[in-house]
Amino acid sequence: MQPGDVVSYLDMCAREGLSLQRGMNFRVAPTHSVVLMSVRPGAPYRDTVRDEGRTLIYEGHDVSRSTANPDPKVVDQPLLTDQSTLTQDGRFYMAAEAYRNRELPAESVRVYEKVRPGIWVYNGVFRLVDAWQEESAGRVVFKFRLELTDREINQEPAEEPDLEHTRMVPTPVKLEVWRRDKGRCVICGSAENLHFDHIIPFSRGGSSLTADNIQLLCARHNLEKRDRIQ
Ligand SMILES: [Zn+2]
Repeated sequence: MQPGDVVSYLDMCAREGLSLQRGMNFRVAPTHSVVLMSVRPGAPYRDTVRDEGRTLIYEGHDVSRSTANPDPKVVDQPLLTDQSTLTQDGRFYMAAEAYRNRELPAESVRVYEKVRPGIWVYNGVFRLVDAWQEESAGRVVFKFRLELTDREINQEPAEEPDLEHTRMVPTPVKLEVWRRDKGRCVICGSAENLHFDHIIPFSRGGSSLTADNIQLLCARHNLEKRDRIQ
């Protein structure tokens, strides 16, 4: 699975080896964590993309709705559960703090984005480098700073994170491309195993920010194109 691949919910669950029922999933494997994001209108959390798709500011998640908390959107996002264990927010927060204090390497986080109902995109591997709490609509929420890397989880860490070769395609651009290309590979018309392809790669000066430089390709045509370029 490559960053930019269109995937189904079941693909994601199969790859991670678990049923992804919640947005934040700390250390689901010894190597990494998983978060689900959405910046669609009406999305429940205010995730934002910065630095031309290199940085994701991910909002923490609310307490579950219960009789004690009928409206989680008015309650501060807690660090601890009622049983005094760390919440998912708390676990990511402590990991970011450990990284800031140079006690641990940055947590690796795979990010999947819901673009439309039933349509997810794998956005790649990010490093969790910072976390803080801030006021939002009269309550306190967590924010997490995630920086896109160029590596997959099981690869050896590079000396320096290579941040120059990939960029996330912003959600509005993904939606525009999806509509324009009608959810199909622009070469063969296949609707399976699709990928958001940079027509001119980012590393060669192509933009991630305009639909003119993004197209849908199936896995076969994406691989053929990559072989041609390399
Ligand atoms: Zn194709």
